[in-house]
Order: sequence, then C-alpha cells, then structure tokens
Amino acid sequence: MKIFEEELQARLASLREQQLYRELRIVDSAQGPHIRVAGKSFLNFSSNDYLGLANEPALKAAACAAVERYGAGAGASRLICGSLAPHHELENALAEFKGTEAALSFSTGYAASLGTIAALAGKDDVVVIDKLVHASIVDAARLSGAKLRIFAHNDLADLEHILKWADTRLDKTGSAGSRPHVLVITESVFSMDGDHAPLREVVELKERFGAWLMVDEAHATGLYGTNRRGLVEALGLGGRIEVQMGTLGKALGACGGYICGTRTLIDWLVNQARSFIFSTAPVPAAAAAATAGVRLVMSPLGEARRSGLWQRVSELTSGLTPALSGWQSAIVPLIVGDESKALEAAATLREGGLFVPAIRYPTVARGSARLRVTLSAAHTSSEVMQLLAALKRLNLDRREVESHA
Ligand SMILES: *Cc1c(COP(=O)(O)O)cnc(C)c1O
Repeated sequence: MKIFEEELQARLASLREQQLYRELRIVDSAQGPHIRVAGKSFLNFSSNDYLGLANEPALKAAACAAVERYGAGAGASRLICGSLAPHHELENALAEFKGTEAALSFSTGYAASLGTIAALAGKDDVVVIDKLVHASIVDAARLSGAKLRIFAHNDLADLEHILKWADTRLDKTGSAGSRPHVLVITESVFSMDGDHAPLREVVELKERFGAWLMVDEAHATGLYGTNRRGLVEALGLGGRIEVQMGTLGKALGACGGYICGTRTLIDWLVNQARSFIFSTAPVPAAAAAATAGVRLVMSPLGEARRSGLWQRVSELTSGLTPALSGWQSAIVPLIVGDESKALEAAATLREGGLFVPAIRYPTVARGSARLRVTLSAAHTSSEVMQLLAALKRLNLDRREVESHA
C-alpha cells in the first residue's frame, strides 16, 4: 500500500510541475449563464449547453414525469429488462429529428463511440481519423484492434494519401471470410477549435475509395441545417453518411449519446456494441429529458434559440481583434499557447467573476493551450459585452493564429 501511494503521489507531483494537474470544482447551482462555484457566482462561458436547455422547464418536467411513472433506476441493461418505454420514445424522436430510419441511444457519447467503432471495425480493417477527433474516438479506434491511421487536421490530400495506401493494402489481405473495410471518422464541428470539417469533400473521397464514414456531430446537433439536425444536414449529406453520431448532453440539454442510421446499422449495434450490451440502461429521467430536448429543438422555440445563439456568436467574434467575420460555431478558442499562461488567464478572469476554462494537454496538443469560450442562447448581449470588456482589459481579445499546434 505504501509504495502504491508514493508512486501515485510522485506521478501527481509530475503533473503539477508540468501545469497539467486537474481538480474538480463544486458547482452548487443549475447550469446556465450564471453558476455558483464554491459559494461564488460566475458568469459562465464554459458549458456546452448551447441552446440553454439544461435547466429548461420542459426538460425538467419530462424528467420528473418519467421518474414518477418509471422510477429512478433502469434495473438492467437494455437487452435484459431495462429497455424502458422512454428509451424507445427517445430513439423514435431521434430518428424523426435526424431523418434516418432508426436510432440507438447510449448512456454517454463516449460509450456511443466506443461501442459503435469497435462493432464496425476489427483487426483486419483500417480506421482513419482526423488528428483532432475527440478522445472517445481515439480510444475506440485503438480498442477495435483495427490498423489506425491519422490524417492531418482537415487535410484532404493527407486523407486521400491514406485511403490510397489502404486500398492497396486491403486488396492484398482481403482473403479470408469477410472483406476488410476502411472506416473514416471525423467530427463535423471540432470540439476544441470550433472549426468545420470539409464534409462534402470527405464524403466524395470516401465514396471514391469505397470506404465507410462516421461523423460525430456532438457540437453541431441542434445548431445547423433547416431542421437543426447538424452540419451534415446543412451540407445536404444525410443520405451519404453511413454512421451519424451525436450527444444528448450538449445542445440537447440532457445526457447520453446516439447513433442514427439505417435499421440494419442499428440492429447490428444492438447485437454487437459492447458498451450498449454490457451496461445498465440510462435512467428513465435521462431518456425522457433528452426526448424533451429533441422535441424542443425541433419546435419553433428551437429555431428561436438557435438564432439567438448565432446573434451572441456574432457579437463576440466581431469584437475580437482582428474581428472574426462569419464565424459559424458556438465555440470560440483563444489560443494562448503556454499551459501556465492559459491557467493564469483563466484564473484572472475568474477573479473578475468570469468562468472561462483553460484547455490544456492532453485535451489539446502541448503548447496549444487555450481559453475555450463557449456561448449559449441563454446569454444576453450585455453578458457577451462583459466578457469582451474583460478580455480586452487582459489583452486576451486577440485571436492568435493557430501556429502552435
Ligand atoms: C462530448 C463529446 C463526446 C462524448 O460525449 P459524452 O456524452 O460527453 O460522453 C464525443 N465526441 C465529441 C466530439 C464530444 O465533444
């Protein structure tokens, strides 16, 4: 025991030295533009609650009603006796929202990545991912046992190069039983940079090489396209992408992950996705809140929230130096570079009552630490102006060119 403790303490000390130590802060309020942390109130620019639904009355009421009718716990995994009506209602709502044949919900987005990717790719296959995809996708790709190839962020020439390589490789190994496949995975809107993937071109490439494509819309669901389905809808690509993934815990205001696609894909995942099969179903309250979130996003109120969010985004980005015009993301990264400088900037903002997280390695590359500002439809104009004023006072309103990464 003693050696175990000493070893872990030494490892923690090393994290502290590198400015990479992390700790939890107790938030003693509901999510929203104002949160109370350790007894103090802050203006919050750190959550992914882009449409302000996390504390929305309709979602809370749905969760309460589900508890009253179905109880607090789910009892078992979905395939045993935990596949409660609220889970099915959620999946029907998701398929209708996204315009797909079927949908499957998972307890988290992390579990959706893990289960889906490992169910679709195995040791004879190749998984090709963008350099900046979420950790859940990287972990899943490793877990799958497939050969993993990483293309430079949004670099189509690099992706094409890898697909060409995979093509020749698969021809050689395509011998026994099932044919090996290439699965390309990217996000539509990147979580730490807020930029968009060139999805049209990625789709064209994967079609040219006969590869499969999975797109993670965690930061796009609810925000883009006529029906607010995501960037895939905005670009008219819905019918050409094999696997559409997203989370229920960001703009949709609840918690969980989902996969949308054909009935066949969903049937395969029910049979093969281990994070789905070997895990207790989400509690009824979570499923019901997510369904209410989906319904709200589909409604005229969802459209009003979205347009409010884009107004806030334009207010913030036009006040940066130089102004960022046409920025199409609720995520606005202010690259600081150095880890300790980013921590210092976040601490100074906190002293002034503003909660903006410093994002460091391993979430982003070493030396590309940043303040990650996220906006919500629940912010007011004057709150955005308060943030801008504080950034200007600290000389943080300058968007560094992202040459650190
Ligand atoms: C948040 C996120 C996930 C994980 O979803 P959780 O529901 O938080 O587990 C997956 N992919 C991306 C891009 C994310 O931002």
